[in-house]
Amino acid sequence: MTDRPRAPETLAAQALGHVDGATGALIPPIHASTTYARDADLGYARGRVYARADNPTFAAAADTLTRLEGGAATLLFSSGMAAATAVFLALSPGDHVVAPRVMYWALRGWLLDFATSWGLAVDLVDTSEPAAVAAAVRPGQTRLIWLETPANPTWEVADIAAIADIARTAGARLAVDSTVATPVLTRPLALGADIVMHSASKYLNGHSDVIAGTLTTAQRDDFWARIEAVLRQNGAILGPFEAWLLQRGLRTLFARVRWQCASTALLASRLAAHPKVAGVLYPGLPDSPGHAAALRQMQGGFGGMLSIRVAGGREAAIATAARVRVWTRATSLGGVESLIEHRASIEGPTSPVPDDLLRLSVGLEDAEDLWADLSAALG
Ligand SMILES: *Cc1c(COP(=O)(O)O)cnc(C)c1O
Repeated sequence: MTDRPRAPETLAAQALGHVDGATGALIPPIHASTTYARDADLGYARGRVYARADNPTFAAAADTLTRLEGGAATLLFSSGMAAATAVFLALSPGDHVVAPRVMYWALRGWLLDFATSWGLAVDLVDTSEPAAVAAAVRPGQTRLIWLETPANPTWEVADIAAIADIARTAGARLAVDSTVATPVLTRPLALGADIVMHSASKYLNGHSDVIAGTLTTAQRDDFWARIEAVLRQNGAILGPFEAWLLQRGLRTLFARVRWQCASTALLASRLAAHPKVAGVLYPGLPDSPGHAAALRQMQGGFGGMLSIRVAGGREAAIATAARVRVWTRATSLGGVESLIEHRASIEGPTSPVPDDLLRLSVGLEDAEDLWADLSAALG
């Protein structure tokens, strides 16, 4: 018996150590019920009414993530997009938000399209420069600064602590899409963010078999209550089976991410010396523009994502992706299998992504297998 505070690795592996009181089961059950029995006096003494508002299956994943992020509460959503957009929908038309120029493209598209026509004023700036964020802030009107770090698909790093100071001074909230960093590497709330968002479809679940999103808050305040209302009223809830898979995936998060970080670091250093590679985008390389900020806010690794610029341009990049045998050509990231993707052709003509760029999501295969396949494909 020890009172030593449990390490995050322990909390994750045991999903907080649940043991079912009635059966002794170590693994939480899946509650499929959509509704809950009402008492004879029309009350709900057990606290639950209807499963759009609440399902006990959510607790294992949500509570584990709250502890890993050091927050006050977590909500599970039906996708990362549902989680991210709930933060913006909790604002009001007329509010101003600052978001990254380089970010997850579907959310960027939603901000420029739906959110703008709904009435948000949206400025996209270079969030790898805190000064650019400070210059974009409109005192009294900016309600939210949104960051993604490292950011898709160039893996630019935003300095969370520096931008948290800017947000606090401006009276704005700071939300961070930490999908790629995961709580293994970065804890945005400890650096001053108010909300951390994940596409749990990626590393948190980790097996490419669940679409889910999460928000974790530093404090239960009015804004969090508005986000909860968006979730319950719009109904973008996670299904119980997906919530159960998510708690299962979270248990191996640390082992997966650390393995992926080690393989990615090895591949990045070798790719940087490859004659067919014109550039490696990865915050772990000492000459990367985000390296200093990454060293400050990423502990124990720089993530499992990197991109390469292929010498020879678009055609050479597409031909390289066509030749791989161990890597799989597919979108998404953060799963156990390694994926390679030509981003510009997925994002379409309005994409700011260079057309010689291949995005790599490093999985759990042997790193030498990945290297041999990729270097042969590069030619
Ligand atoms: C995938 C992703 C999202 C969107 O999440 P979905 O679960 O696909 O809706 C948001 N941000 C980042 C960084 C992502 O990689």
